[in-house]
Amino acid sequence: MARLAEDFCYDIAIVGGGATGLGVALDAAARGLKVVLVESHDFAKGTSSRATKLVHGGVRYLAQGNIALVREALHERTTLLHNAPHLAQPLAFVVPAYHWWEIPYYGAGLTAYDLLAGQARLGKTAFLGHNATRELLPGVMPTGLVGGVKYWDGQFDDARLALALARTAATKGALLVNYCQTIDLLYQCGQVSGLTCEDTLTGKAYTVRARCVVNATGVWVDALREKDGVANAKDGRHPTKPMVAPSQGVHIVVDREFLGGNTGLMVPKTADGRVLFAVPWLGKVILGTTDTPRHDLPREPLAFEQEVSFILEESARYLRKAPARSDIRSIWVGLRPLVKPQDDDGEETKGLSREHTVLVSRSGLVTVTGGKWTTYRAMAEDVLDRCFAKGLLEKRAKGVTAHLAVVGAEADASVRKPMSELPGLHAYGSEGVLVQLLPGADHWLSAGLSEAMVRFAARHEYAVTVEDMLARRSRLLFLDARLAIALAPQVGELLREETGLDPQVAAFTALAQQYLYVANKNT
Ligand SMILES: Cc1cc2nc3c(=O)[nH]c(=O)nc-3n(C[C@H](O)[C@H](O)[C@H](O)COP(=O)(O)OP(=O)(O)OC[C@H]3O[C@@H](n4cnc5c(N)ncnc54)[C@H](O)[C@@H]3O)c2cc1C
Repeated sequence: MARLAEDFCYDIAIVGGGATGLGVALDAAARGLKVVLVESHDFAKGTSSRATKLVHGGVRYLAQGNIALVREALHERTTLLHNAPHLAQPLAFVVPAYHWWEIPYYGAGLTAYDLLAGQARLGKTAFLGHNATRELLPGVMPTGLVGGVKYWDGQFDDARLALALARTAATKGALLVNYCQTIDLLYQCGQVSGLTCEDTLTGKAYTVRARCVVNATGVWVDALREKDGVANAKDGRHPTKPMVAPSQGVHIVVDREFLGGNTGLMVPKTADGRVLFAVPWLGKVILGTTDTPRHDLPREPLAFEQEVSFILEESARYLRKAPARSDIRSIWVGLRPLVKPQDDDGEETKGLSREHTVLVSRSGLVTVTGGKWTTYRAMAEDVLDRCFAKGLLEKRAKGVTAHLAVVGAEADASVRKPMSELPGLHAYGSEGVLVQLLPGADHWLSAGLSEAMVRFAARHEYAVTVEDMLARRSRLLFLDARLAIALAPQVGELLREETGLDPQVAAFTALAQQYLYVANKNT
């Protein structure tokens, strides 16, 4: 906060600390630019901690014929697995087949997916018989099962990757501040020249000067665009049209036994034509997701009853033991920032790919949204390209992040464990040894969560509240909300001891009840 208060003009100020903003911060800092990023809540508190955890090319975009997009994502998949091996790993998936024609049909598509990956291929697509399918998916519904198709993608820990990006950017000189909300934009001669922000923990206001401001606020981008539109309104009219049409996706977490094994299950077409995944993750199974339009932008969206029914009913068709509402360990919802086609203030809208969009307003505010976690690095390059093209920054060569390992990546490969396994010290990669040096290294609060990890989070990972710790440094809230509630007071005491700040235990407990919402409501 002392650095933020200094009178300094940054090259680039980024609003929003999700995958998109953090990706831009890292790329810009790695190119030697002076970078500041402000996040109103915690890093990855928005959509970026609520993904299905897949590092993927997007099989369904292939079905839509969007070859360029799939190729780019497959390339980025490899880059991510390489640069953050402790947080992102390959995962085999099986598409179970209940009609004989499904094997050649899905097999052909997935072989094409393989071929498109070229050098980036993670493993060969394989056709499986009944027994081999059941071996990989012990929990699959055996009745009527003909066989399956195995293919490869990746999986990751989204919130921990976000933290790793933030901390890697910090090692390159960037200043990143969580709990600091952008309130307004500053202008000089009609051009954006910085922003004002407020420390949400103390209420203190700050002024940040920057040559370029990037709005990377996910589904919330229109709030800042609206302010920019009002500031630039001619004749009292501000023509800013909303850019985002949010859509929510629900995930249900159940015990590992429902799926068994270390292989994901993918249903390419559910009864109503959607895609459904069952993904083994950190010792549990994630079931999801849905795609439901929303007209509001809640910070903590709740699942609709019909979304829960959909996931459970579809899962029951493919799993031997059907999960019930009472089996839900946690339920969480993310908002997709889907971009509406439009033009911005008469300027050409430039969709740099069909997935994400970068707009530069008349006053020079750069807005980026859409896309997916997997392609955050390519998105960051697109954003900086646009800043250079518009003359907001002097051009610097791209590609610096292509081989840039994130904090913790240099670990000995022997300490790695599959992401599907229980969480633990391995998630810290080469930093595991540092965690072990802190008090409480052998004091386990629950499986995979030690006292030392809480201290490490407070000292090195920007954690302030119990929610920061139990939702995003450890993923316990997303895995088992009831257990997270039980541990909250203990974790709160450790955080208070480390930071001297209020760890907000009661607020966390109230929030975590929502992650139990459906289970509570129906049991
Ligand atoms: C259900 C679902 C499943 C998904 N699954 C996958 C997947 O498996 N693989 C994949 O690759 N992608 C997946 N995605 C997509 C991916 O999660 C998103 O594309 C990505 O997380 C978006 O990141 P973002 O940084 O743009 O937005 P966010 O993560 O929402 O970040 C925006 C940030 O801006 C902050 N902010 C807002 N207003 C202000 C302000 N005034 N001042 C300061 N900060 C502010 C917010 O607090 C927030 O943290 C999924 C998305 C959803 C919804």
